[in-house]
Amino acid sequence: MTTPKALVAGNWKMNGLMTSVREINALSNMIEKNGAGCEVLICPPATLIHALSGKGIDIGAQDCHMMQNGAHTGDISAVMLKDLGCRYVIVGHSERRADHFETNDMVKAKAHAAQMQGLTAIICVGETNTQRENGETLDVVTSQIMGSIPEDAAVAGTVIAYEPVWAIGTGKTPTTEDVAEVHAVIRALLLNKFGTDGNMVRIQYGGSVKASNAKELMAVPNVNGALVGGASLKAEDFYGIITAYQS
Ligand code: PEP
Repeated sequence: MTTPKALVAGNWKMNGLMTSVREINALSNMIEKNGAGCEVLICPPATLIHALSGKGIDIGAQDCHMMQNGAHTGDISAVMLKDLGCRYVIVGHSERRADHFETNDMVKAKAHAAQMQGLTAIICVGETNTQRENGETLDVVTSQIMGSIPEDAAVAGTVIAYEPVWAIGTGKTPTTEDVAEVHAVIRALLLNKFGTDGNMVRIQYGGSVKASNAKELMAVPNVNGALVGGASLKAEDFYGIITAYQS
């Protein structure tokens, strides 16, 4: 069975100024010099997409609106992201689900809008601490997956990021056994939806990934890359994660 090329993506969240161009230049130099055994993506705030593009690193977005244009002050559409050269957009990150009350239906509509423009949607799912303690992890992730992937989604336009909410920005990570269990369930759902092509959908793990734990987490079955927050802000830290894919 062929496995998809891993995708290591950095989510800069609401961090970064024009001076951040130097981090992209540094990352680009490290990859040029030492290589990367995976696909590399940075999702900066929308204000930096244009400035960071064209430097040899794929640049994506952190969100898009479900409509392509119209009276939606402050929002950014998938067609605009495509126009800027983006190939990826994160949708349904837990911070957006929590801070902007995004439901599975909204996430699905955003993923659909992205895929209609030929963008790949990185659809985020993951349980809260309370849900994990109540033994609801697999049910929560299953209903998020079922509710957030568009009916007409194509394999090529879909990446899943499993990010336990309690692991994001906390320094805590699940055990590799716990990661394996959730990723196996996600893979089964993808196989159910896409048939054997479901094996080609990348499932990223996200939540306190850093250079010191990347190799172990990336070696878990059905983990096809990482979605990285804090450790993606500095080129050196992020490159340390990328090297998990160097033999
Ligand atoms: C994230 O926000 O997607 C994330 C995984 O953050 P961190 O790596 O900082 O936990």
